[in-house]
Amino acid sequence: MNPTQLICDIGELNHLFKNSMSIEHFLHQTVAMVSKHLHCNVCSIYIYDEDEKMLTLKATQGLNPKAANTVQLQLGQGLVGKALKELRTLNIEDASNHPDFKAFAGIEEEKYQNFLAIPIARGHNRIGVLSLQRISAQKFTAEQEVACKAVASQLANIIENAKFLISIHSQTQPKHADKDEEKIESLKASIASKGFAQAPAVVIDKDKTFKNLLNRSFEQKYNIDDFHKAIKQTENQLEELQKRVEEKLSDAASLIFASHLLILKDKEFVGTMAKLIETGTQPPKAVLSISKKYIDIFAATSNQYVREKIQDVEDLSVRIIGNLESSIEEITPVKNKIVIAQDLFPSDLLKFSSEDIAGIILVSGGVTSHLSILARSLGIPMLIATEQKLLNIAPNTVVLLDADDGAIYVNPSDQIKAQYKTHSSARQILDIQKHTVRAETFTKDNKKITLFANVNLYTDAKLACEMKCEGVGLYRTEFPFIIRNDFPSEQEQYVTYRRLVELMQGKPLIFRTLDIGGDKVLSYYQNTKEQNPFLGMRSIRFCLQNKEVFTQQLRAMLRAGKDADLRIMFPMISSLDEFLEARDILNDCIRQLKNSQMQFNPSPQIGMMVELPAVVDLIDDFAKEADFFSIGTNDFIQFMLGVDRTNENVAPFYLPHHPAVLRAINKVAAAANKHNKNISICGDMAHYRRYIPALIGMGITTFSLDPAYMPTIQDYIEKIDSEQAVQMAGKLLAANRVSQTKQIIESGI
Ligand code: PEP
Ligand code: MG
Repeated sequence: MNPTQLICDIGELNHLFKNSMSIEHFLHQTVAMVSKHLHCNVCSIYIYDEDEKMLTLKATQGLNPKAANTVQLQLGQGLVGKALKELRTLNIEDASNHPDFKAFAGIEEEKYQNFLAIPIARGHNRIGVLSLQRISAQKFTAEQEVACKAVASQLANIIENAKFLISIHSQTQPKHADKDEEKIESLKASIASKGFAQAPAVVIDKDKTFKNLLNRSFEQKYNIDDFHKAIKQTENQLEELQKRVEEKLSDAASLIFASHLLILKDKEFVGTMAKLIETGTQPPKAVLSISKKYIDIFAATSNQYVREKIQDVEDLSVRIIGNLESSIEEITPVKNKIVIAQDLFPSDLLKFSSEDIAGIILVSGGVTSHLSILARSLGIPMLIATEQKLLNIAPNTVVLLDADDGAIYVNPSDQIKAQYKTHSSARQILDIQKHTVRAETFTKDNKKITLFANVNLYTDAKLACEMKCEGVGLYRTEFPFIIRNDFPSEQEQYVTYRRLVELMQGKPLIFRTLDIGGDKVLSYYQNTKEQNPFLGMRSIRFCLQNKEVFTQQLRAMLRAGKDADLRIMFPMISSLDEFLEARDILNDCIRQLKNSQMQFNPSPQIGMMVELPAVVDLIDDFAKEADFFSIGTNDFIQFMLGVDRTNENVAPFYLPHHPAVLRAINKVAAAANKHNKNISICGDMAHYRRYIPALIGMGITTFSLDPAYMPTIQDYIEKIDSEQAVQMAGKLLAANRVSQTKQIIESGI
């Protein structure tokens, strides 16, 4: 044996690995090489999964090859597990008689008496085990041990880098989480969309579903007729789903399943599969192989939009195979289930909604506010949790999701279930409130307060009407943009907006122009990747740069609002120049429309959002130009205090009652009132009763709320005396410490 030669060869492998061999291939080459150089009968590599505390045999030379991916040992179990647990080399002469020896049926290990197990680790980070076995009764020499340690340390580097591949290629049984379930009984999570559900869970790991199919063998024989039948069935299913989305969400009638249908109807796609089948390939394999080709082509571009396309192809091929082979467990129907997932697109929410999902747990630390808003509009209860173990929950484990209170119970006890038996969900409460909410709102001393609604999708507007809103104070027009696959045309926007105008029957309707960027990304608009998207090319900046998109939207609004109390508002205005430029473009659109045959509204009110601190000192100048203001407190607080509104970690610093925030709001309200311009609050601050008296006291009499909040806020306003509110505002504005304003707010009026 030449240990130096062995180490050199492993160095060569390192190089080969970098040139992108598959990790499995690499591990097999390694075990072959080590066993050859060290003249041993068996060489195996086990990889360790830290989450599962489990070692899995990944490659072997000498043992039954079927053992790869099936033999598993817990940390500390068997000689291999012991070597890793104790992070020390075990060099044993008479292995099968060792008290820690663990025999596995069918791999015929017992005959190899001579055993060397070297932990593969980096510091205390356990990565796996390299094990060598020989029939001879001679112990491995110190020299051989040293050579193997060198190999193990090389392997540590490579395997660590390739761990993500190993998990993707893993053919082991899906992670069973009995032990995790034991650990997770209940946990707290952030509320994204209120509601309640108790249902079996399904973990959606989009990445795994398709990859698992790629590694699967298909035993049943199918013929070309079965294939065509499966294609037809898939087409029918997709058309049905599409119909249901359209019925539920007219403004999202963006052909959410359109790209699936398009790909399915693509002659190349189905035709090439058929050709493969005719030349003897099994239909599921043909579907997978052609889908994989498409995916590889899409993956070669760096366009974000393509990510969704890849998923469409994956989703499509999983559906086709599911229709061929009913036993495919990877197809996880979501009907009446609680979906647990790590990464979802807005379009996924729409698909789930059309399939009557019970609820969603999003396991994510990431930026998700647009998903939350969409879930709310779709009426899907949704919680955002950080506990990764939720992703290991076994299929059909019963989960109780209390998205009214931010709690998750896995396998809830009878006691918990009984506790929730009488629980009325937020939605049931709304059903009652619809009947009691009043058409107008007044304070205790009869001062008129106007409650407008925030609308994201048409469904919100319907609820807003049931809640007797006096108008729409913020229509976030970006949602139809976010859930589509490309920019909606002027005509498509017109149709969407027109439905809203008709529903509102002459009540004021504030359209906010496209506010994308930050966490509201358009998957189809490829911008350069921004380090700080919240401070990036977003909102009005994007519109002023993309005038074509902007004018099409403005024209659609003007046309849809031909007979409406139409108000158009620009978001994220930072300077007078920006406001005037946007207004000029709007006036140009009006001029153009005058020269056309089309009906339109020639005199909308033109206002702006107050979301940036830069506006505050110029507010008197703005008040001379703008017809109205709406304070977007979500962004205003974020930018005033430099606190990311979507980052849970800094939530304690996000303080609506910060003295600077309160004084700035007061300044804006005073300027608007002085110039007789409407002023409203449309951020979430208006959802919290405790801030309402102070805001009324500062002279704000219009609030725009998510419709679900309207009845509670109305009840509360009716208890407020406006004089006392003025006094409270005075006290707050005199205070200069957060602790003081907090105390005043908490004492109430
Ligand atoms: C706000 O910033 O307060 C606001 C209402 O706009 P959005 O939440 O859509 O950014
Ligand atoms: Mg905003």
